Amino acid sequence: MEYRKLGKTDLNVSRLSYGASPLGSVFRDISEDDGIKTVHTAIDMGVNLIDVSPYYGLTKAETVLGKALKGIPRDKYILSTKAGRYGAEYSDFDFSEKRIRSSLDESLSRLGVDGVDILFLHDIEFGHLGQIFDEALPCLQALKQEGKVRYIGVTGYPLKMFSETIKVADIDCILTYCRYALYDNSLANIIPDLEAKGVGIINASPTGMGLLTNRGAPEWHPGNQQLFDACHKAVTLCQSQGVDITEVALQYAIDHPAISSTLVGTANPVNIVKNIEWAEKPANQLLVQDIRKLFDKVPVIWPSGYPENQDVQV
Ligand code: NAD
Repeated sequence: MEYRKLGKTDLNVSRLSYGASPLGSVFRDISEDDGIKTVHTAIDMGVNLIDVSPYYGLTKAETVLGKALKGIPRDKYILSTKAGRYGAEYSDFDFSEKRIRSSLDESLSRLGVDGVDILFLHDIEFGHLGQIFDEALPCLQALKQEGKVRYIGVTGYPLKMFSETIKVADIDCILTYCRYALYDNSLANIIPDLEAKGVGIINASPTGMGLLTNRGAPEWHPGNQQLFDACHKAVTLCQSQGVDITEVALQYAIDHPAISSTLVGTANPVNIVKNIEWAEKPANQLLVQDIRKLFDKVPVIWPSGYPENQDVQV
């Protein structure tokens, strides 16, 4: 496993990392034993960054992850969790200082650890930027100064949110998702600005939350029909060449040198082994080009958050 420095932090993160949302049964009902085995396998094979949130499975993912991490030496993994998002509705977001502080305490208790390495504000496009910048981020800064978290950052879908945040706040890293994948690589447009400020980049969802898998996207996926259809064509193209689409999707997503780590989610111990082994090999570039062409005229982004916070499809 290759390790990369995360921005200006002293964290060396594995190039492929583990996203724990599937432990909350967000993609399908999972077996807790399999989920725990998946976490152990990931760590045994060199994955050292694990990401979770109280939102995933409405605290279930943190609870299952806490069971998995029990007894594992704390220096074996770098742990990130989030605050601010607790459900799917606008009313389930709370970026107040009071809630962020209580949320962190609750996460630590579920995870069974004394502290997390990174605390993110979760999906800031669902918040009002006034509150994010004037209350939530200063709260994260204070938690960092108090030694309760080592590093801080924000997560979200619209790239605009990251550009706005790094103009006004000193953050250590961002967690972006679905924006550096075979169907959409527009994250690359903001990488120079992030690098210039030394902001570490964690990329999530190399399969686009299931779009680029043989099973396809879950029912709740926010993408549009044209995107689903193009992904289906990509799956068929890979099948015709005897290749698993998830292999190419992973290899493509982790290939950008400025992305320190890419988070992939699974609660299947067999699939985590495949993912880690695939990540060691380069993508078939001809196949990548053919797949990318399928998305040439497809609207690949979807709305997320308040209208004023969203990206515009170009
Ligand atoms: P992902 O692209 O990693 O896809 C997960 C899906 O792919 C699951 O259905 C999983 O079963 C399937 N999959 C994984 N490996 C497979 C394989 N080898 N074969 C077949 N199917 C396979 O999307 P994700 O889980 O949403 O993203 C990864 C992690 O990134 C999350 O768990 C979470 O930690 C983080 N994330 C954060 C945010 C945010 O902060 N807003 C958003 C999305 C993801």
